[in-house]
Amino acid sequence: MKFYSTNNKDLRVSFKEAVFNSMPLDKGLYMPEVIPQLPTDFIDHIEKYSLTEIAYEVASALLKDEIRAEDLKALVAEAANFNAPAVALDDHTFVLELFHGPSLAFKDFGARFMSRVMGYFLKDGEQLLDVLVATSGDTGGAVALGFLGVPNTRVTILYPKGKVSPIQEQQLTTLGQNIRAIEIDGTFDDCQALVKAAFADEELNKKFRLTSANSINISRLIPQTFYYFNAYAQLKRKGIKDVVFSVPSGNFGNIGAGLLAYKMGLPVKQFIAATNVNDTVPRFLETGVYETKPSVQTYANAMDVGAPSNWVRIMDLFGGDTETLKKVVTAYRYNDEETLAGIKTIDEKYNYITCPHTAIAYLAADKYRNETDFEGGIVFLSTAHSCKFPDIFPAELAAKIEIPTSVKELEGRTKQADELGVDFEGFKKWLESKN
Ligand SMILES: *Cc1c(COP(=O)(O)O)cnc(C)c1O
Repeated sequence: MKFYSTNNKDLRVSFKEAVFNSMPLDKGLYMPEVIPQLPTDFIDHIEKYSLTEIAYEVASALLKDEIRAEDLKALVAEAANFNAPAVALDDHTFVLELFHGPSLAFKDFGARFMSRVMGYFLKDGEQLLDVLVATSGDTGGAVALGFLGVPNTRVTILYPKGKVSPIQEQQLTTLGQNIRAIEIDGTFDDCQALVKAAFADEELNKKFRLTSANSINISRLIPQTFYYFNAYAQLKRKGIKDVVFSVPSGNFGNIGAGLLAYKMGLPVKQFIAATNVNDTVPRFLETGVYETKPSVQTYANAMDVGAPSNWVRIMDLFGGDTETLKKVVTAYRYNDEETLAGIKTIDEKYNYITCPHTAIAYLAADKYRNETDFEGGIVFLSTAHSCKFPDIFPAELAAKIEIPTSVKELEGRTKQADELGVDFEGFKKWLESKN
């Protein structure tokens, strides 16, 4: 399987090249040249497979020419080594808990898979790999924990100063070893712009072997398809065949992976893109005009994205056909007040506490149920553990949140981070001086 650039379909590269380049020079994004169809026999009996078996089947359809079967099996088993249960809140509403990995967020699926793919391709004696990552909070922790101690790699994390939670900041800044953190005096979009500028900079590319760990890297996207198939399998075991997914969306990598799974043959009735007030995509689906805006800070800060980078991939999956896309994807937006009310509703109704991102997905799922006569199963994705966002919960709800032991272990560790502005020259100098 080769991968093309969304800006130039004649440009074809190997998976290895797509993973290490992260982004083609023409600033498109890599996509598989063919969307492989999973065997109907596999889909028809998917309820018989475990998460790692499903992961192998899906990964193999895309990557079997590039990674030997036995290696790929071991790789997916290591990457997806935690559960992703679809917990029933009632007979037809399920919360897909994607926060059982090391950083307590769904991004562990992508980050763990990516770090192991890179480790696989990085032979001894190759130039040190510099992973640059912009984060609004959760990516950085997942990537840092994913790459921690991986030989021949170094990770540099850029995060917006004062805009990530204390636990997120601890996960970004206290690990040491091959992990470095920079707090940027700006927004997530500023961090992302700096990383993108570094990839486009010839001098830096000569000096360093740069790669991205953001959701633009194709090796992050692929493993995120696994849990959609696996969630479908779980519902099927309960006798539910009609499934809708509600996905809290920022950069649209998560839902993009869901749509890739759909195009590979996963029978999903509808996807719901749930956003906060950074609503570029909901506005686009309403008006047909795609207009990006600077991001606004919200309670669901991992979704504070004004220019969702994976949107081009979704358009590519649909061959630019907005009308067909609109039949498959519905979008709703929620402000902070509604998000907080949503958290309270879920607690009152189900005695279940969600993070703000997850609450937005719940609200959208609930709205979809009320607006349609859909009677099948609705799965809303829980993208992070609620303990990562302690500040937004009223005291009586905060008291109910159970803190996992992995978080307790970070307490009291020393923060190590440099502070920089939003100008590219400053960031470039930093990279050069810290070599
Ligand atoms: C990253 C993130 C999202 C948004 O996912 P995208 O793939 O960027 O759309 C939602 N919730 C949480 C908790 C996240 O960390």
